[in-house]
Amino acid sequence: MLAAGRGRRMGGAKHLRPLAGVPLAERVVRALLRTSAARVRLVLAPDDAAGRALATRIGVAALAAEDPDEGRAASVRAAVRAAASDSRGALFALADQPFLEPDDFERLFDAFRAEPGAIVRAEYGGEPGSPVLFPADCFAELLLLRGREGGRSLVERRRERVRLVSLPPEHGRDLDAPEDWPAESAPLPSAAHMERTFSIVKPDAVRGRKLGAILEAIEASGLTIVATKMVQLDQPKAEGFYAVHKERPFFKDLVKFMTSGPVLVSVLEGDDAVARYRKLMGATDPAKADAGTLRKRFATNIEQNAVHGSDSPDNAQTEIAYFFSATELVKR
Ligand code: GDP
Repeated sequence: MLAAGRGRRMGGAKHLRPLAGVPLAERVVRALLRTSAARVRLVLAPDDAAGRALATRIGVAALAAEDPDEGRAASVRAAVRAAASDSRGALFALADQPFLEPDDFERLFDAFRAEPGAIVRAEYGGEPGSPVLFPADCFAELLLLRGREGGRSLVERRRERVRLVSLPPEHGRDLDAPEDWPAESAPLPSAAHMERTFSIVKPDAVRGRKLGAILEAIEASGLTIVATKMVQLDQPKAEGFYAVHKERPFFKDLVKFMTSGPVLVSVLEGDDAVARYRKLMGATDPAKADAGTLRKRFATNIEQNAVHGSDSPDNAQTEIAYFFSATELVKR
């Protein structure tokens, strides 16, 4: 999500301007967090403290465009440099399009999956527009962009590779200048705080036949299950999942435990789903968990603690993509 512009036409910091109480950048990031994108990053001007605070509040990583006065190219380069080495492509979304829905982004991702070499671009009523998704083999050329040049020049040079995906023109509306700003009563995109989180019912709880009770508690809490499946983790899969803990003394035991039997992996959706599910789970150590939490009720000890839940929307996105493909997530 590119939000490093100075917003001169808007009198500054357009991406932080609220639309019905929610900053534009937050709307777009939250919509992206509800797609199958493996990672969402917010590109900001290096001195944008308010933008960084927003990223922290939402729970996504912020990147600094080295020279925001240079224009769009500096943001594109920052995003490309931060892309993971296994990244298959990158979609560049803009804060000025706060009406795009998760489904709109998903249609661009679908088109890319159907034809992985394509440059996928949104089109509104026959007019090409943003966002644009570039495959990884375009990254080297994107790093050469300078100044006000966005990816568009590359799109023009690679016209034969461009695939247009038609999206509803009212979703693509651009809030570029003050006169584009809708009245406060204008229709709003989907709920701004809707989030996804990733859950595992660990081998101890599956073995102990606690699945039903845990899913019941999840549903009773108001969270909605939008994907679920039973899987047996093998060592590489478990090690990859817990890679952040690989230096910890308990890593080996943890991997052994997580591969000791099948687990149930799920995607949960709801307002502030990440924080709500962490609250329902309780503290890592069941001895310290509040009464009524899943870990208090079902965990044996700090390791065999019945459930996993993502600790940030950013990690949720990565963890969901680690286990589920886009087509496995339903709409409810
Ligand atoms: P979580 O986010 O609450 O799951 O906690 P962490 O991310 O800190 O740890 C990941 C998982 O590692 C926990 O859920 C436990 O299963 C395990 N774990 C954490 N701390 C310890 C520990 O001190 N000893 C052992 N054996 N396992 C631990």
